Amino acid sequence: MTLGEALAWACGRIERLDARLLLQTASGCSHADLLARPETPLAALAEAQFMAWAARREAGEPVAYLLGEAQFRGRVFQVTPAVLVPRPETEVLIELALAKLKILPNPAQVLDLGTGSGIVAVSLALESPASTVCAVDLSVAALDVARNNARRLRAQVEFFQGDWYAPLAGRRFDLIVANPPYIAADDPHLAGDGLPFEPRMALTDAADGLSCIRRIVAGAGAYLQPGGWLLFEHGYDQGETCRNLLQAAGFQDTFTHPDLAGTDRVSGGRI
Ligand code: GLN
Repeated sequence: MTLGEALAWACGRIERLDARLLLQTASGCSHADLLARPETPLAALAEAQFMAWAARREAGEPVAYLLGEAQFRGRVFQVTPAVLVPRPETEVLIELALAKLKILPNPAQVLDLGTGSGIVAVSLALESPASTVCAVDLSVAALDVARNNARRLRAQVEFFQGDWYAPLAGRRFDLIVANPPYIAADDPHLAGDGLPFEPRMALTDAADGLSCIRRIVAGAGAYLQPGGWLLFEHGYDQGETCRNLLQAAGFQDTFTHPDLAGTDRVSGGRI
């Protein structure tokens, strides 16, 4: 089988971009090789690897788990089934956090709750080097991935294992960010492409989708400096409820911001 034949075979089964990424990794060829020399024969081992991956992708497994990595903001992060696959909508959380860090005291103390693979904590540590970044996760397996990402990308992040604010007694932050589980337990989206392979606890609170957000908002006052900001990601229909929760907890200047697709995605406020 040639590169071109392999790609054509897989494109009938899975998305072309996924097929291309899997073929490039299995064969060691670049995108340019695939375009310029599709007649190149694929070695037997590479062909077997590629076909096995394509079959797993066709059965729903995310490409990031097959390859063990994913890109976020131009950096390559290790990704395992212990953590959520990085999503482009989380970019807006980073952009808003960086904008707040420009107006917050320098050096700022930053906290990332539910860090998962660490994409938020690591991106902020690298893109706001004057900030001190702490990150918390309940999952020991996720923290292993996050620590590894921080080490490989040379980001200074202090990691804590525990339930939201529990391991942070006595600490105060200028900025708290979070991408919590916010999908309601009965949301059919949980059965969508790839999601059944992701850690349930990272996607859903097993309730109405807002219980973790309620805890994060209610607890933030005790861990924020006066004037500090809380920003968190949420579902497309949760913006108004999130602003109401923030206002009820004493936050000012509350706002909701859309993601790159124009969907309400991040809300926040200043205490
Ligand atoms: N945005 C993700 C999705 O809809 C969910 C991420 C999360 O729950 N934090 O698939």
